[in-house]
Amino acid sequence: MIFLARAHLREIADAAEAAYPGECCGLLIGRSRPGGEIEVTHVAKSRNLGKERGRFEIDPQLWVDVTRAHRGGTARVVGLYHSHPDAPAQPSAIDLEAAWGEELVWLIVSVDGDEGRGQAVHCSAHILDHGGRQFREIPLRTNDWQPYPVRILPEGNRT
Ligand SMILES: [Zn+2]
Repeated sequence: MIFLARAHLREIADAAEAAYPGECCGLLIGRSRPGGEIEVTHVAKSRNLGKERGRFEIDPQLWVDVTRAHRGGTARVVGLYHSHPDAPAQPSAIDLEAAWGEELVWLIVSVDGDEGRGQAVHCSAHILDHGGRQFREIPLRTNDWQPYPVRILPEGNRT
């Protein structure tokens, strides 16, 4: 389970819509709660350094800055987010190929185009599982909103 304030979700959706038809990306900063739940306390937007369509790359300097800013505190990078323009909020084969860190939550926002303008339509959270060989969706919850329903995809359908 990952907890995200509604304002953070809005911030990510706004970034995803602004970047359309490109991809946005950034870091999720927060802490682990007892029991393994993750709470996001803020969001850090990145430039997307990905050079190819369908690939994103978070600015390595942002990682350095965020890590430095939170050194000695309880907050840390708990995950990352990016958008899928005109594609479902499910990890792609490219994401799986690029993924690392079983500790990190991958938040994905699906953006649909409407007359050239992006509209964020869905958001889901995933973690790497089975030794990093596949993603597993985890419930996403905001303080004042119901969790998004978790869709269990059959094996072999995770594209
Ligand atoms: Zn992706």
